Amino acid sequence: MQVTNDNSCSWINDLDPRTNIKTLSNKKETEWLIIGAGFTGLSAARKLSQLNPEQKIILVDAQLAGEGASSRNSGYLVDTTLNDGFTSNKELENYKKKTEIYKLGINSVKKFVKEYQVDCDWNESGKYFASSKKEDEKILTDFSETLLKLGYEHNLLFKTDLTKKLGTSFYNVGLYTKGGFLLHPAKLIRAMIDTLPNNIELYENSSLLEWTKNRDSIICNFKNGQVVTKKIIFATNGFLKSLGIKSNYNFPLTLTASMTRPLNDEEFKFIGEPKEWGVLPVRPMGATIRMTKNRRILIRNTAEFCSPFKMSQSILKKRSIKQKIGIKKRFPNLPDNIIQSTWSGIVSRSRNSSQIFEKIDQNIFAVGCYNGSGIGVGTLFGEQIAIKASNEYSKEIETIESRTKPNWLPPNPFLNMGIKVRLFYERIRAKSEV
Ligand SMILES: Cc1cc2nc3c(=O)[nH]c(=O)nc-3n(C[C@H](O)[C@H](O)[C@H](O)COP(=O)(O)OP(=O)(O)OC[C@H]3O[C@@H](n4cnc5c(N)ncnc54)[C@H](O)[C@@H]3O)c2cc1C
Repeated sequence: MQVTNDNSCSWINDLDPRTNIKTLSNKKETEWLIIGAGFTGLSAARKLSQLNPEQKIILVDAQLAGEGASSRNSGYLVDTTLNDGFTSNKELENYKKKTEIYKLGINSVKKFVKEYQVDCDWNESGKYFASSKKEDEKILTDFSETLLKLGYEHNLLFKTDLTKKLGTSFYNVGLYTKGGFLLHPAKLIRAMIDTLPNNIELYENSSLLEWTKNRDSIICNFKNGQVVTKKIIFATNGFLKSLGIKSNYNFPLTLTASMTRPLNDEEFKFIGEPKEWGVLPVRPMGATIRMTKNRRILIRNTAEFCSPFKMSQSILKKRSIKQKIGIKKRFPNLPDNIIQSTWSGIVSRSRNSSQIFEKIDQNIFAVGCYNGSGIGVGTLFGEQIAIKASNEYSKEIETIESRTKPNWLPPNPFLNMGIKVRLFYERIRAKSEV
């Protein structure tokens, strides 16, 4: 299984390369082992170290810590989601639980950012759900009713206002929610790595190949070493299934995104000098598009079932063309060669958009499957699974465990066929929104 991604993510390349990278070698014994050092694994490690300061904690990643989806995402810290949660007003209770989890996730990230004074381009700008299709007003009106019942500040917007705020006349209808945040994901995750407590040993570029349980210990074989642990937390998100974790409840999807260079003064003036903004699509396969703090445009408009997960340079190039077209549709006056980089990242999905948070066996825990909400929910779930695994209690765990659980998925080849058909259908529905 190829875990390592391309090295072309603008967010990651904004930062200085890290030094002092340790790779796992020989045999080690530990109380705690965490697999995966993204938002979830890093947050779990930090909490475990607070709860068990005298115990040994090992955190391992197959690539550089944080350089999986956690650095490669679009940087929306969401309070509400449309495609990933709201299905109809009939499901109000379920949706309410989902938004309670988002709120707790936001609190976890906020607390970290405040405590460590993290500079991650934090912007309390809210976010938009928008569509060029006038008929999508119905979806947004229904969504607005739900948000009203749950007390979320929001408003419906139409072409003139959207054009002014976003600098593009592409969208005809939109809904603005005040509560979402925008941030620089790689800066945030880098701060989580830099502030890891001293009793955590971090090993990178060390892929877990196989694991077995033997009475009271779990034996994990890596590329260049072995770790024997008493307790383990799997925080590999899109790679849970490939490690045999909750295989019938989650599946990976590969997303691609592109970022432009910063717009120059003239280009920025031409589109009306909008403030930083983020738009999420109304239709599931539509584009997520963002104007960053330093006037770059980020677009993510593909999601696919890809094997191997890592994309070849030629496929990535094709996706980049798709993203250039997406930018052109919205900003026809910008030059053609404005995209600076294109990258891919892996997320995890379940059939009903619900997350995994579970003890799967004695001393074995698994968390993940957040789709487009992993910045907040991953940070929260990491922290809370550490509490659960330490046999402690929290109110947050109660809220998390009262959510709808992921639905069962059929085995292959039916699963692969089902996902492909569904994605194809959603792609057609969202054709104009890409
Ligand atoms: C393009 C894109 C846009 C997104 N946009 C948003 C957004 O705007 N907002 C939002 O909240 N979320 C977004 N997401 C989703 C979000 O990035 C994820 O939900 C989040 O990063 C999950 O964090 P994680 O720590 O659970 O997983 P990851 O960050 O994927 O970390 C898992 C780690 O496990 C490691 N690993 C896997 N297999 C092994 C193994 N065998 N051995 C050792 N290590 C292993 C990987 O190398 C990886 O570093 C987006 C994702 C992508 C790809």
